[in-house]
Amino acid sequence: MMNVLIVFAHPESESLNGSLKELAVDVLNDEGHQVQVSDLYTMNWKAVLDKDDFPERMNKELFNPIAEQLNAVEKDNIPLDIKREMDKVLWSDVIIFQFPIWWSNFPAILKGWIDRVFYNGFAFNVGEMKLYNEGLLKGKKGMLSFTTGASRELYTDKGPHGDIEVLVKYFNHLLFEFVGMDALPYFAIFGPGEMSEEERENELDRFEEIIRNLP
Ligand SMILES: Cc1cc2nc3c(=O)[nH]c(=O)nc-3n(C[C@H](O)[C@H](O)[C@H](O)COP(=O)(O)OP(=O)(O)OC[C@H]3O[C@@H](n4cnc5c(N)ncnc54)[C@H](O)[C@@H]3O)c2cc1C
Repeated sequence: MMNVLIVFAHPESESLNGSLKELAVDVLNDEGHQVQVSDLYTMNWKAVLDKDDFPERMNKELFNPIAEQLNAVEKDNIPLDIKREMDKVLWSDVIIFQFPIWWSNFPAILKGWIDRVFYNGFAFNVGEMKLYNEGLLKGKKGMLSFTTGASRELYTDKGPHGDIEVLVKYFNHLLFEFVGMDALPYFAIFGPGEMSEEERENELDRFEEIIRNLP
């Protein structure tokens, strides 16, 4: 049995991403796993890391976020919304990010979750070089699950957007592996808007199979 955290970043629960999230919850529950969902838009998640995150700063003259993160961890002085997410991360064996690709990247609200939750001193420790194999979230697994507007052909090395495999490799390496996690193979539905109903159903079936057999 595993503990799975789904970080869901789509503003519409009735979207295809919303369906993927719901399907994952149902299948994981069905398999006997524990699931928590961080539905970032519904939570009204604050996406921007700023000075307000650090009401009791170590250095009040100059704001150095990475140093203040470490200080906040050491003083156990972390805002409640961030602390709650950190607790979910610590609880989880697997973290799934479910999101639409926006500007070939995470939606800002999800990027902001990473900025504000994967603290220096919590997910990694840059001063002590606790990165990659020494990362503080070692033993956990991460999976990117996303949809695109563009077809698969547009995201190949010969296509205008370049090779999606390269993009995913960097995301996996510089996000999950950076903090010591193992990256699971990604799942993507490319250009669902251009698909027939049947093709979309096949993609949902493919997703169900992957989630049912999560390593
Ligand atoms: C700011 C911004 C930037 C973007 N940048 C990029 C980019 O860089 N690259 C890129 O490729 N795209 C980009 N896009 C497009 C975006 O990635 C897609 O619109 C998104 O991935 C589609 O996912 P969705 O959940 O919103 O799909 P939806 O629009 O909800 O659904 C897609 C299709 O699936 C159908 N559907 C919904 N639910 C189900 C279901 N349960 N079963 C069967 N069918 C269903 C819908 O009717 C629709 O036809 C961008 C979009 C925005 C807003």
